[in-house]
Amino acid sequence: MKAFELKRYYAIALDPIHIGTGGYRIGRVDNTIVREPATGIPKIPGTTIEGVCRSYAFLKAMEEGKSINPVCAKGKVKSESEQPCGKCEICVTFGFSRKDRSMQAMALFSDTRILFFPVATMIGPVWVTCPMVLKDAGIKEIKGSSKEDIPKPNNNTFIVPESSKINPPEEKLNFGWLLLTQDKDNSKKTDTSKWVYYENSKQEMLKDKIPDEILSRIVIVPDNLFSTIVNSNLEVRTSVAIDPERGAAEEGALFTYEAIPRGTVFWFDVTYQNPKHFGLNDWETNLIIKTVEDGLRYFEFLGVGGMGSRGFGRLEVIGNFLPFEEYIDALERRLETLQKETKKEEIEKICEYLRGVKSKMEKDVKDIQSLIDKVNKIFPKFCR
Ligand SMILES: [Zn+2]
Repeated sequence: MKAFELKRYYAIALDPIHIGTGGYRIGRVDNTIVREPATGIPKIPGTTIEGVCRSYAFLKAMEEGKSINPVCAKGKVKSESEQPCGKCEICVTFGFSRKDRSMQAMALFSDTRILFFPVATMIGPVWVTCPMVLKDAGIKEIKGSSKEDIPKPNNNTFIVPESSKINPPEEKLNFGWLLLTQDKDNSKKTDTSKWVYYENSKQEMLKDKIPDEILSRIVIVPDNLFSTIVNSNLEVRTSVAIDPERGAAEEGALFTYEAIPRGTVFWFDVTYQNPKHFGLNDWETNLIIKTVEDGLRYFEFLGVGGMGSRGFGRLEVIGNFLPFEEYIDALERRLETLQKETKKEEIEKICEYLRGVKSKMEKDVKDIQSLIDKVNKIFPKFCR
């Protein structure tokens, strides 16, 4: 029985991302974003992703007809009569604190960090990264039977990998206001199609996760220039503050804000602790994974961070999501344990959920059948 399982996820910004230093609340925004203290590189704190994921996982559970207490979406005591239940998948996955007891989260989120950062250059967009960022993300290159670190560019130069689709004129490229020369010694000595990340001792090629439009336009810059390039190419806009009470513009309330641009590629890890190690006998890791990934799937539609209503924050999350069949297997094992421990109330909840999923699927099957019938009316016997 494994104590924990680590899963890697990538995320692509579909909108500019603004994570104000005040957290993920929507409302009056402050104009700076969260940064790594040591490097000044913007990031999304793990707590932000976790908080948003919790809300969306709750939303998904509601959508599936599960009866979950709304206080569980927050996980904290609201009043004497309004406390998180401490038993549902939201409480177990993300942790909870009641008056009588509390428990840590089974899913632990790392910070979400920039892997490839888009910059507009004279030859179109390129995605910038550096050896330090790749190393922190655990990305190496397969060379024959060994795996090696990605090469470092010389001072004030950049590397264009082999198989890259970009061709800088006169071997120079502008990254915003910064002009660099191509590193002739090290260019072509690395190939992004051989970049790999090892997950649970299995290797995962980056090209299977990151779109080719991005991977074929990567440029590697020196570590000491990465933060400067990122910070001088953030989106900075001016907007009008809206008074939330009146819904009108506040007088003289122009403010500027910065955001991580659309197209930025991030990475983050989630560590899934085995609930059985915490005395939760009827839970297992796959049930936790399903709850988190249900939440992550909503990031693409509902977004993270502030200013969601201004077209900000949508993130497409990419990872090896748990197949539905494996979730059903885990649910079956959970039912067996619950039966042994005669926890009738919990069994009833699962039955209610299964009935909900079944009736939704039946409706889908009906809809598809009627579509098939329509096609067959137009083109007889076309669809079987
Ligand atoms: Zn709960």
